[in-house]
Amino acid sequence: MAFRSPVGTEDERNKMPIDIWPKTWVDANAWTGNIPPKYLLGKGNWAYHTGADLNMAGDKDAHAPIYSIGDGVVRFAQLVSKTTWGNLVVINHGIVNGKPLFSRYGHVEDMLVAKGQAVKAGDPIAKVGNQFGVFPYHLHFDISTTIQLDKSPTYWPGLDLQSCRHHFVNPRNWLRENHNNSAEKLPDGLGTSGGGLGTNGGTKPDDVKPLPTWYVIDPQGAQVYKEPSLAAEKTVLLPRGTKVTVDVQKGRKDAALTWGPIIGGNLNGQWVAIRKNDGKESYLSTNPPQ
Ligand SMILES: [Zn+2]
Repeated sequence: MAFRSPVGTEDERNKMPIDIWPKTWVDANAWTGNIPPKYLLGKGNWAYHTGADLNMAGDKDAHAPIYSIGDGVVRFAQLVSKTTWGNLVVINHGIVNGKPLFSRYGHVEDMLVAKGQAVKAGDPIAKVGNQFGVFPYHLHFDISTTIQLDKSPTYWPGLDLQSCRHHFVNPRNWLRENHNNSAEKLPDGLGTSGGGLGTNGGTKPDDVKPLPTWYVIDPQGAQVYKEPSLAAEKTVLLPRGTKVTVDVQKGRKDAALTWGPIIGGNLNGQWVAIRKNDGKESYLSTNPPQ
C-alpha cells in the first residue's frame, strides 16, 4: 500500500518523483516546514490552519473527485453544519511509523462513503464542494498522527498553536516522506499490510468495524428497495456480481427474508434481501459468484 494525493488525475497522483499536489492545484494556506500558517477564518476570527486548502484557479476544482490517501476505514462521514465543516469525511489508516494516522476532508459534496466502510488508497470518497456557497470551491485536507480525530472528528485547535502542531503535520511533507510507506497495522479487521509493530495500539475505536463487501450471486440480480419489505418502493436492480457494502448488524427480518441496509454510494440506506430465513436460498454472498 502507498499514500497519495487526495486530488489530481490518476497520472498526477502516481507520477514519480512524487510532488504530492498536482501542478494545477494550489494550497492556499500551506504550512512552512513544521509551522502552520495563521489565517483569518471570518471577521476577527483567527486560527492556525491544520492542513492544506487545495484549490484550482477560477473554481476549476468545482466537483473534482477526492480520493482516499491510503487504505483504511471511514471513521466519520456526515454533514456537521452548513457554516463550519459542511460535509466532513475522516479516514482511519491504522498505525504508520508507529503512530496513528487519520486523514480528513472538509467542505465536500456528494459523499460516496459511510462510517465503517473499508476504503483503498485512491478510492473516490467525495467531490470538491463550496459548502452551500459559503466558501469558494476548495478541499480542506489535513493529516493527524494522534487519535484526536478518532475522539473528535471535527476537532479544531483554533489559536492553540501547540495543539495544532501536536495533532497535525505538514500534509504535503508527510505525503512526500511516506508515499511508499505502508501501515504497520491497519484498523481492526483489515489485517496487516506488512509486519512491523503489530500490537501497537492507539487506533482501536470500538464503534469502527470495517463492513464486509457482499456480492450479488442471484442470476436474476438483486432488487434494491427503499425499506426492508417486498412491498416497499423499488429503486434499482443490481446485476449479478455487483459489489455492495451491507451492514448486516443493522439487518432486519420479515416473515420470509433477511434484509440488510446498503452502506455508502448512491444507494446508502436502501435495502436488499440477503437470504431466505429458511436458509434455502441466498441472494448475496461475501464470496464473488463463480
Ligand atoms: Zn482549510
